[in-house]
Amino acid sequence: MVETQIVARGVRDRKVIEAFLNIPRHLFVPPECIDQAYRDYPLPIGHGQTISQPYMVAVMTELLELYEHHRVLEIGTGSGYQTAILAWIAKEVYTIEKIPELSEKARKVLEKLGFKNIHFKVGDGTLGWPEFAPYDRIIVTAAAPDVPPPLIEQLKEGGIIVIPVGDRHSQILVRGVKSNGSLKIEEFFPCAFVPLKGKYGF
Ligand code: SAM
Repeated sequence: MVETQIVARGVRDRKVIEAFLNIPRHLFVPPECIDQAYRDYPLPIGHGQTISQPYMVAVMTELLELYEHHRVLEIGTGSGYQTAILAWIAKEVYTIEKIPELSEKARKVLEKLGFKNIHFKVGDGTLGWPEFAPYDRIIVTAAAPDVPPPLIEQLKEGGIIVIPVGDRHSQILVRGVKSNGSLKIEEFFPCAFVPLKGKYGF
């Protein structure tokens, strides 16, 4: 998976590649999909949600320009796989999921893997997690109509947010860098995520 889907398509960040080589993806997929855990597409994880395609997880992490001293806010814990990749590289990860059962399942797997730097919350991630703000990096793993204003507020000056923005069916992966209180936006490529719900979602 790492060679043919990630490195071959241009992901170069050594930290991202190492994280992928060390996190067993099959632990994050339902038992009936285990034979497909390393394939090049998203998989269902229940409750109408998905674990993202491995390449998408790698590209989003690379776009974050993540370092070991960073504190990261993640919206959409899902299976917890992206959370594990972030927590392998960064100092602390604060992850919010709106579906309690998914959050609990992810917590169990991540605790079993020995992670001590992940903080879980069940709730509306479009409101962020103000208690621990500001964050060096923010990643949103569901499709948003626009960047939720609380997330811009809770991002550090100079910090980076990566988020798919568009309508319910298709989006563009964007990266925003916070400068003088607002975001400088760069657009990358088209993508299709499940919708972000909540106050600033769909
Ligand atoms: N990164 C995840 C992984 O590796 O498994 C995939 C996440 S899945 C594509 C998107 C997740 O966002 C779903 O689990 C969904 O329940 C969650 N979600 C949607 N709206 C949300 C919100 N407002 N707050 C928190 N989580 C939300």
